[in-house]
Amino acid sequence: MKCPKCGSENTQYVAVHHSGSSGSFTDACCGMMIFGPIGILCGLCGASPGFTDDYWVCHSCGKKFQAGTAKAAEKARQEKIQQELNAKARRKALLSAANPVILQNIDNEVIEAENRYKALKARLKADKQAFLQEYPACKVQNTFRMIGRGIIIALTGFIAFLAIDMDELITIIIWFLAAMVIGVMCMMPPYYIKLSPALTELNEAVENAKKYKEYLDRLKKARDEENGV
Ligand SMILES: [Zn+2]
Repeated sequence: MKCPKCGSENTQYVAVHHSGSSGSFTDACCGMMIFGPIGILCGLCGASPGFTDDYWVCHSCGKKFQAGTAKAAEKARQEKIQQELNAKARRKALLSAANPVILQNIDNEVIEAENRYKALKARLKADKQAFLQEYPACKVQNTFRMIGRGIIIALTGFIAFLAIDMDELITIIIWFLAAMVIGVMCMMPPYYIKLSPALTELNEAVENAKKYKEYLDRLKKARDEENGV
């Protein structure tokens, strides 16, 4: 058995038997004198079986532990090892699939990707403002839509709040639906982006730049972990 504290195999099983009060001859005699023949039985039956206290002791660190504790600790340790192996395999796959030129220059690539993403985002913001200035009606419409969206989110949240007192399953279903509605509402881009092909394209470019930046971040992290940084 492996010690759950220090991992040493130098452990020993210990069993200590605590004897209970055994039904004895004197108990039976006393029982007979007081209660007659039934007393004999009662005296003899007063036997309690006692119990055995068993555990393991680690000779390396002195820890006392139960077999179950040690097994659970060992299982957790094995799972952790497996998780580390899986993470390592994923890292290796990510690194071997990467473009070697990019990988070699990853530190600069990450900075460049970040700058590209920031620049595109700033351009999208500026173009959006320019678009709304050019078409003021869109701005008013957009404001109304944003207010409408806010009302729907608030109402959905309120319905989910009311569902707390309902049947457990219904509550879970309503909360799930509410979370979906709120999530979709929050993630929808402003509608006017669809009105302008240029804005739509720019919006996609921003999304792609973000994904690429995140990919490079993962790649850099994998490279650092592989090098033990
Ligand atoms: Zn130990």
